[in-house]
Amino acid sequence: MVDFAAIRNEFPILDQEIHGHPLVYLDSAATSQKPQRVIEAESEFYRTINAGVHRGAHELAARSTTAFEDARAKVAKLVGANAEEGEEEIVVTAGATAGLNLLATAFGNASLGRGGEAARRFALKPGDEIVVSKAEHHSVLLPFQELAARTGATFKWLDLTDDGRVRTDNLDEVITERTRIVAVTHVGNVTGAITDIAPIIKRTHEMGGIFVLDACQSVPHLKVDFHALDVDFAAWSAHKMYGPTGVGFLYGKREMLEALPPASFGGSMVELAWMDQPAQYMLPPARFEAGTQPVAQVVAAGVAAEWMMAIGMDRLEEHERMLTDELLKMGDIDGIRIIGPRENVKRIGTVAFDVEGVHPHDVGQFIDAQGIAIRVGHHCAQPVHRHFGLYASNRASCGVYNSIDDIDALLEALAKVRPFFEV
Ligand code: PMP
Repeated sequence: MVDFAAIRNEFPILDQEIHGHPLVYLDSAATSQKPQRVIEAESEFYRTINAGVHRGAHELAARSTTAFEDARAKVAKLVGANAEEGEEEIVVTAGATAGLNLLATAFGNASLGRGGEAARRFALKPGDEIVVSKAEHHSVLLPFQELAARTGATFKWLDLTDDGRVRTDNLDEVITERTRIVAVTHVGNVTGAITDIAPIIKRTHEMGGIFVLDACQSVPHLKVDFHALDVDFAAWSAHKMYGPTGVGFLYGKREMLEALPPASFGGSMVELAWMDQPAQYMLPPARFEAGTQPVAQVVAAGVAAEWMMAIGMDRLEEHERMLTDELLKMGDIDGIRIIGPRENVKRIGTVAFDVEGVHPHDVGQFIDAQGIAIRVGHHCAQPVHRHFGLYASNRASCGVYNSIDDIDALLEALAKVRPFFEV
């Protein structure tokens, strides 16, 4: 039995009042709160270890390197990736956006012939195709749209069902032998829908393409195993999985990372640099980690990963399923339309909704006045909103610290919105 009330007590930020009400935080899809042990890990690192990694002969540098690599291994374990020296499959990035841009830039570099013969598999030319889905966050949509524009590749997408799931009934039409890259979200950040990625990955590989997963909204909520899923690359952020801001991770199959050319250049990623000869880059992951790394944040992210595994991802999933059951009851409130699947099947506890006749910013402000934090706007996913005939929506999203009482506080407040605005 996991004591979720005790888990909630590990989050100091939740112990406060907002506008005279106890804080109810239902915006974890934007960023999760941090347990005390993660906050402590970061400051403890600065108090006792702080030094650059992978350089310097002094003891602190050695300890810093060990802490950094241990954290990488913990994060790798969370997602079923390799971490043994020489086999690492996790690259440290500044977040999901940075990881996805790293990939798009590296594919662009491969398209210019960089990375030699090994990188040819990533190269794009006019007539090739890049496929995304209409469910994508702008941080998938835009880097791959730009990549298409730079290389002359055709940009295509998988459409959505009426309730906002990525359609998989016409994969043979959309993913063809010309498709080189398919980039799709694992869980929609608006709809909370879990994408049925297995047939998309299978079709992509049958056509000889590379599959990129946006795992930003799945790693914090679901047990994921990138080897079992057979994804080629996956990107996500630490700050949505109870870790610090400013850091994230890119998973790549080892053979893919070894073949991929670098995307940014500088210190700590090169074996040999010359004035008059091309540089010789290091093996992954160092090849993709140019510059001084956010070591304290990576160490704290490792603590977050370890803590999630100690609770158990299946327990986290179970708790969230229970909260989602309650959250979906908002669909019974007069004038509220859920944007996404209404049944608690293949979805997480992120629920977007429209309140008929009330602008999301008014809803958000009204809810905030009761001490409840939800997100309003387009959530960096404008095509999804257009699909539903909207520009913006409201979104409530759960974390491990939420309770049924939190959800009930929201439901109670939501029931008052339309009467308050007299619609
Ligand atoms: N993809 C999805 C599905 C997201 O929800 C987010 C964050 N809202 C991102 C990508 C981008 O993450 P970050 O802003 O942390 O880089």
